[in-house]
Amino acid sequence: MSEEKKSLNFIEQIIEEDLANGLPKEKLRFRFPPEPNGYLHIGHAASICLNFGLGLKYNAPVNLRFDDTNPAKEEQEYVDAIKHDIEWLGFKWDKELYSSNYFQQLYDWTLALIKEGKAYVDNQSSEEMAIQKGTPTEVGTDSPNRNRSIEENLSLFLKMKNGEFEEGSHVLRAKIDMKHVNMHMRDPIMYRILKKEHHRTGTDWCIYPMYDWTHGESDYIEQVSHSICTLEFKSHRDLYDWYVEQVYDNSKLRPKQREFARRNLSYTVMSKRKLLQLVEEGVVSGWDDPRMPTISGLRRRGYTPMSIRNFSDISGISKRENVTDVALLEHCIKDDLNKTTPRVMAVLNPVKVVITNYPEGKEEFLDANYNDYEEGFGSRLVPFSREIYIEKEDFREEANKKFFRLKLGKEVRLKNAYIIKAESCKKDENGEVTEIHCTYDEDSKSGSGTEASKRKVKGTLHWVSISHAIKAEVRVYDRLFTDEAPDGHKDVDFKEFINPKSLQIINAFAEPSLKTAKVLDRVQFQRLGYFCVDKDSTSNKLVFNRTVPLRDSWAKQNK
Ligand code: ATP
Ligand code: MG
Repeated sequence: MSEEKKSLNFIEQIIEEDLANGLPKEKLRFRFPPEPNGYLHIGHAASICLNFGLGLKYNAPVNLRFDDTNPAKEEQEYVDAIKHDIEWLGFKWDKELYSSNYFQQLYDWTLALIKEGKAYVDNQSSEEMAIQKGTPTEVGTDSPNRNRSIEENLSLFLKMKNGEFEEGSHVLRAKIDMKHVNMHMRDPIMYRILKKEHHRTGTDWCIYPMYDWTHGESDYIEQVSHSICTLEFKSHRDLYDWYVEQVYDNSKLRPKQREFARRNLSYTVMSKRKLLQLVEEGVVSGWDDPRMPTISGLRRRGYTPMSIRNFSDISGISKRENVTDVALLEHCIKDDLNKTTPRVMAVLNPVKVVITNYPEGKEEFLDANYNDYEEGFGSRLVPFSREIYIEKEDFREEANKKFFRLKLGKEVRLKNAYIIKAESCKKDENGEVTEIHCTYDEDSKSGSGTEASKRKVKGTLHWVSISHAIKAEVRVYDRLFTDEAPDGHKDVDFKEFINPKSLQIINAFAEPSLKTAKVLDRVQFQRLGYFCVDKDSTSNKLVFNRTVPLRDSWAKQNK
C-alpha cells in the first residue's frame, strides 16, 4: 500500500474502492442530514467535517438536507441556527433540501407498494405489535392484518391520509418478513398518523413517513452516492437497501449507507434531547450558553471554526464507539488562539500597589506590542501611573525561592513597564493584604535601551493602572459536569452530575485599549488565558468569557 493509501480513513477507502470498481468520480455526492429539532453540537461537527471534507477532497457536491419528518419536535428556529453554524464552520452546501420536499413522492411510491402487496395497514395497538415483533433470539409472528386485500389497504391508507383516523390508531407497515433475523426487517412501520402542523408543509399532511422509509429514498432521489451515518444505524442497513430496491431504476445510482462511530466527548452530554432539558430547565442560559457542547455555545465561548475543524481532523473517525478527551478540544483552541490573538492585560483578583517614589499625578503611555514573539500584531499605548493593580496571588510577604513573583524585599518586572521592589504592605483585621508599597527603578523602563532596562529579574507580572482601567465582568467557566461520562450511569440521571461551580462571575479591571472591543473579539489576558467578548456586553460594561486557561493539560499528557 502506498503512503497515501494508508492515511485514508475507512470511509475514503470505501470510496476509493468504488471508484476503482467503475463508479465515475462525477457521481460522488454526499449529504449532511440534520433533524431540525435542536442546535448542532460538537458531535454533529464530526459528521459535518467528514461529509463536507469528502466534498472538498473529491470536489463533489454536498447537500444540506433537513430530515424533517417529525413535526412534533421540529422548528424553523432550529433550521436557521443549523445553517448559521455550518456556514460559520466555513462549509458550503450545494443544495438546501428537506425530506418534506419528498412527501408527495414518498406517498406515490407507497401507493405502488401497496398495489404490489408489499405494504399493509395495521390497526392493532403498539403493545400488540411489539409482542408480535419477537426478540433477537425468537422470530416474530404475523399480524392478523397482514393479509388484508390490496383494495382494503388502499382504502384504509387513504382514510389515514385524509385524517379520518385518530393518532396512534393505524399505521402502514412494509410487508417484509416477521421471521427475519434482523428485527428491523420484521414488517417495519412506514407511516404513522400525527395531527400536528409541520413547519414547512403546514396541515397538508397528517401522516408522516418514518426515518427509514424517508432516508434511503431521499438519498436515492438526490442521488447521494455515499450516505454516511452513525453506528446505531448499522442494523438498519438491510432495511435501507430493501426500501431503495423497491423504487430502484437501474439507470440510476444506488446510494450506499456506511456507518462510523459517534463522537462522544468527556465531561459532557451530546444528545439533543438532553441538551434541550438543560435549556428548558434553566440549568444553562440557552442553547448558546458557553458551557454547552453546541457549536453556538463554543462560538460564544470563543472557539474558532479552525479549532473545531482541527479537532475533528485530529480525532479522526472510527468504526468503534469511543470517548474523546475534552482536553484535546481545549488543546486545539489554545493552539489556534496562541497564534492569532493579541496579548493584553487585565487583573481578575486585584490588590492595590502604590509606587511610592513615582510622582503623584504623573502618567505615562507605554508602547506595548500586542505580541512580543510574532510580527504583524502591532502595538498600543498602555497607561502607567503611581497606583496600579496586580493579582493578589502574585504577592506574598514571604515565600521560598521558587516563588518568582513579588515578595517583600524582592524585585519583579511589570510587563512593558518598570522593575519594582516590594517594601511593605498594609493588612486588614483578617490579615489580608490590602495595599502593597513598592519603589520602582526609574531607569528600568522596558525597551528604553538602558543598562537597567536590560537587567534580568525573575518574574514578570501583568498589571493595570487603577485610574485608567476599565471595569469588566469576566465569566470563568469550568466543566458543566463533574463526571467524565455523565450519561453513562445506569441508575443515575445525568443531571445529578451537574457541576455547581461551572460558572464564576468576576469583576475585573482591564487595560483601557479594550474599550473598543467588539462582541466575539478574542484576546489573551497575559498569564491568565484566552478570553472573548460576550454578547451581553453593553457600552458601559464589557463582559468577557474565558475560553480556556493557558495551561495545556492535553499537551502535557501527550508529550
Ligand atoms: P442526537 O442524538 O444528538 O439528537 P441525532 O443523531 O439525532 O443526534 P441528527 O440531527 O439526526 O441528530 O444528526 C445529523 C447527522 O449528524 C446524522 O448523520 C448523525 O448521524 C450525525 N451525528 C449526530 N450526532 C453525532 C455524533 N455525536 N457524532 C457524529 N455524528 C453525529
Ligand atoms: Mg436523529
